[in-house]
Amino acid sequence: MKVSRGLLAAVLLAGIVAGCAPQQPPASVAPPVPQASAPADKLMEDVRILAADDMQGRLVGSEGGAKARAYLLGRLAEIGLAPALGGGLEHPFRTTRGGAPVTGVNLLGVISGTGGSDRALVLMAHYDHVGVRDGQIYNGADDNASGVAAVLAITASLKQQAPLHDVIVALVDGEEGGLSGVRALVDDPAFKPLLDRTVLAVNLDMVSRSDKNELYTAGGFRFPALKPYLQDVAAAAPVTLKLGHDDPAMGKDDWTSQSDHMAFHQIGKPWVYFGVEDHPDYHQPTDDFAAIPEDFFRRSARTVELAVRTFDRRLETIAAESGGGSN
Ligand SMILES: [Zn+2]
Repeated sequence: MKVSRGLLAAVLLAGIVAGCAPQQPPASVAPPVPQASAPADKLMEDVRILAADDMQGRLVGSEGGAKARAYLLGRLAEIGLAPALGGGLEHPFRTTRGGAPVTGVNLLGVISGTGGSDRALVLMAHYDHVGVRDGQIYNGADDNASGVAAVLAITASLKQQAPLHDVIVALVDGEEGGLSGVRALVDDPAFKPLLDRTVLAVNLDMVSRSDKNELYTAGGFRFPALKPYLQDVAAAAPVTLKLGHDDPAMGKDDWTSQSDHMAFHQIGKPWVYFGVEDHPDYHQPTDDFAAIPEDFFRRSARTVELAVRTFDRRLETIAAESGGGSN
């Protein structure tokens, strides 16, 4: 049995726009997005703070990166995310930047599922960006303060309404310039038990801007077992959710290698990516908070939460269909 529209609508109601009024729109019509009123709703504030000039573009191994991390650790503590490995939420790794060795730090935690299964989902977004170049700060509001803020909002929602399966939350460093943070994570023997339990990794990278109100989700071509679930999510999503950008025949428009999900792809682990089409501000100093349309971004974040909750509910079936995740 696939997830019914009724269930999807119910899941949607548990959305991340805390304090929103219940609504049951027909799947074919985008519902109005209510104004956020609850103080817990920090979606826009998180992007604004992460993409502010004092974060200096959040380059891996930089002071700005450390400042962003300190802010995120505060937010994760506020949400109440538990560490996923021994110790705290910080997962440091060594990498290089311009040939020089630096330390990057992923942030890693887990929300425990209530369903009694060992299987797990990974929910991730990279928080680093490209820093300062020629005196100009690259604020990386869409890339990828937006994905991080959406992950925080979804994490807060999952804390309020627990998932069936463990959700491993990863805010990843060092994506820009080589996916070093996620590679350090999947290569870490300490992470292997969690990786073995992981059925599916959900990656958000650039989810806040679209002139056409379109969000893409990739992964359904590479992992056809996921496609029916993605189609169900698309039918109920409050944005136009398009499946695509993971067919190798698309050449450079195949985004399989373009973000952190690549590290999961390379070990044969199913993944789903959410993101928008490239825009003129992509990797420019103009990728600023002010350019983010709040309405679309809220719809986009709600769409990803809908997907996460759908995957969570169907994870046992997805595991059986895709061969992912031991139990
Ligand atoms: Zn990015």
